[in-house]
Amino acid sequence: MVSPMQKLSSRLALWANAVRDSFVVLLPITFFGVVAVLLGNFPVPALQDLIFRTFGSGWQALTTWVIDATYGVFGVALAVVLSIQLARRLPLADDEEMPPLAAVGISGLVNFMFCVLASGGPNVDTLGHRSMLLGIAIGIATPEMLRLLARVPAMGCMSLGYETDPEFYRSMRSTPSLVVAGLGTILVAKALVLLPLPGMGWLNSVPATIDARIDADWVLTNGAVLVNQVLWFFGVHGGKVLDHQAAAIFGPVGASYDPSLAWRPLIDVFVHLGGSGATLGLMVALFIVAREGPYRRIAQMSVLPSIFNINEILTFGLPIALNPVFLVPFLLAPLTLACMALIAVHTDLVILHTRSIPWTTPPLLSGYLLTDSWRGMALQALGLVVSTRIYLPFVRRAEAKRFEAQAAAFARATAAIVAEGQQRLASVRRNDEVGLVARGLLADLTRDIGSTALKLAFQPKHDRTGAAVGVEALLRWTHRRHGAVRPDVAVTLAEEGGLIRRLGIWVLEQACERKAEWNRLGLSRITMAINVSPLQLDDPLFPATVSRCIAQHGLAPGEIELEITESHGIPISPVVDDNLAQIAAMGVSLAMDDFGMGHSSLVHLRRFHVHSIKIDGSLTRVVLTNPTCGNIIRSITALARAQQAKVVAEFVETAAQRDILLELGCDIFQGYLYSPPLFCPACIEYLITHAPRSQSGTARFEVPALEG
Ligand code: C2E
Ligand code: CA
Ligand code: CA
Repeated sequence: MVSPMQKLSSRLALWANAVRDSFVVLLPITFFGVVAVLLGNFPVPALQDLIFRTFGSGWQALTTWVIDATYGVFGVALAVVLSIQLARRLPLADDEEMPPLAAVGISGLVNFMFCVLASGGPNVDTLGHRSMLLGIAIGIATPEMLRLLARVPAMGCMSLGYETDPEFYRSMRSTPSLVVAGLGTILVAKALVLLPLPGMGWLNSVPATIDARIDADWVLTNGAVLVNQVLWFFGVHGGKVLDHQAAAIFGPVGASYDPSLAWRPLIDVFVHLGGSGATLGLMVALFIVAREGPYRRIAQMSVLPSIFNINEILTFGLPIALNPVFLVPFLLAPLTLACMALIAVHTDLVILHTRSIPWTTPPLLSGYLLTDSWRGMALQALGLVVSTRIYLPFVRRAEAKRFEAQAAAFARATAAIVAEGQQRLASVRRNDEVGLVARGLLADLTRDIGSTALKLAFQPKHDRTGAAVGVEALLRWTHRRHGAVRPDVAVTLAEEGGLIRRLGIWVLEQACERKAEWNRLGLSRITMAINVSPLQLDDPLFPATVSRCIAQHGLAPGEIELEITESHGIPISPVVDDNLAQIAAMGVSLAMDDFGMGHSSLVHLRRFHVHSIKIDGSLTRVVLTNPTCGNIIRSITALARAQQAKVVAEFVETAAQRDILLELGCDIFQGYLYSPPLFCPACIEYLITHAPRSQSGTARFEVPALEG
């Protein structure tokens, strides 16, 4: 049973995620607006003049337009986007049907407009940044109302038969619930407007009351910073609200510093380093912690705006707004900087001049301009260090959480890639998390072929006397971000992405090169088995590639064995049959891999001659406990003997398992009982100690110790 508290908290989490994602969806208009704000408020007057002279007075109008068309509609855009984001996530019962997402967005738009009209009509203030909180409220309330209404049978009153045009059907069906949700919104909006709001007049007397005890700037500055931060956290432009509601606590614009009031230039210059929240420190912390990934990209993109104290990319891109992870440092950093500045001012460490400095003036420069001294710059530099220190642990935690989520998504995606590959479904074409990971990995694999990120490991195979007689080459891919990636994931992606021939040639060349090296060390009796994808077999050039590779490294064809798995199906085509015949004629051995796993193992035995059959691990693994598997293996070994083929048992992990497989007639053994796959120097050492001995050879199956 889920308790009401659990239900509520999971719903709140759902809302918070939808809000965060909506900010991210709206990043393009944030970027657009940021550029316009910067160009319209450039802090260097000479440059500003130059821009205007060059581009004419229309320039200013253009930046204002852009700001109005982006920041100026942010609230309403949030209402629409959030309605859709949340509607997509809301859990529905089987018999509940939400209106189409576009209709939910329209409903959010209409409801938002009802509220705006109820409180004085639309303009860039009521539609824009200042209405973000309203946008969030409407964006949550709209889909929640529509979901409740979806349970009401009467809402289906305008449904037409299914034989009508589907768009028309859906549109008609959603109309009643959209209307009811809209009427509900009007009622609430009207009621809220009629409700008397508490007046803010009492604020006027606050400075004097405090000043009777201590210098009021201590309390008022910190109070203003705190309120500003809390409002920003909820996505509301705190500065504008304070200007409107609490002008009394600030010294008048242009007046000199007065210790009985809060002073805007002090806050702009020494507290809002990089913007509200001292986010320049956050940006530096992101650079320190995130070496790659989204946080680093956000940090990179916010460098230029942050220099001019514009922090929207961090607030809405990271995002900080409504993100509990960042609440504490977002309050703590600016409050600490405010206290530092006040101490410096009260102890006369810095002397503040009365000077109007545009809020977009870069830190250090603004510190100098306000104090006419290096001390102002030093105070800002110290502020940057302190705020970075405050943000650091929180950024670390956020990055660790992101890693966890990413690792989980990666594990889910790789499992799906292999599973879907077996059903011949291309995950690279999927339009979800799996597709995203698959396409990213495929691009990385394309880049990594030929680099040191790809390597071959070699797993020894032993004969009935316990001597090492061969190895299987196995692909190893160390991804620079995800670490080791399963080889079957890499191979499946290469198959889906048209990369398998290139990858296959790389594996073949590497394996032949190694084998030539071993021959020079006297290990010519060790055979080299190479895995081959069925798609490689479909390539008319494949036999020529194999033969060129063998000749190039001076190998004898019999030293090479190609393992062909039929678990994904070997294409039935004249090209494949012809290729296999050519390869066999060359003298290269063929092994049927994962035998017993596919549906057509026996069919393939009829198509071409195999030199060995590798029994699938699913049979050998349970041979001790499952008598049926034992019977199957016995029949495979009988079949192989009749075909003059050897039987290889994979996944041999224990001596008991090996003994029973030996008794069942297997000839070659491979598995962790002997050795895991080994990289080159270790593998050579292993082969030298375990290669076939002279005729006087010692006891059978001196099992080598497991290697790590
Ligand atoms: P496979 O050809 O059946 O390879 C045997 C797999 O079993 C290997 O996994 C090996 O590390 C693992 N294995 C061997 N002995 C034991 C054991 O005793 N216990 C356990 N638990 N596992 C054991 P790996 O290296 O992860 O390879 C997985 C599959 O990826 C291979 O299955 C093969 O189908 C494919 N693959 C690997 N390298 C290549 C390659 O170069 N080309 C192609 N086309 N496929 C490859
Ligand atoms: Ca194999
Ligand atoms: Ca196998």
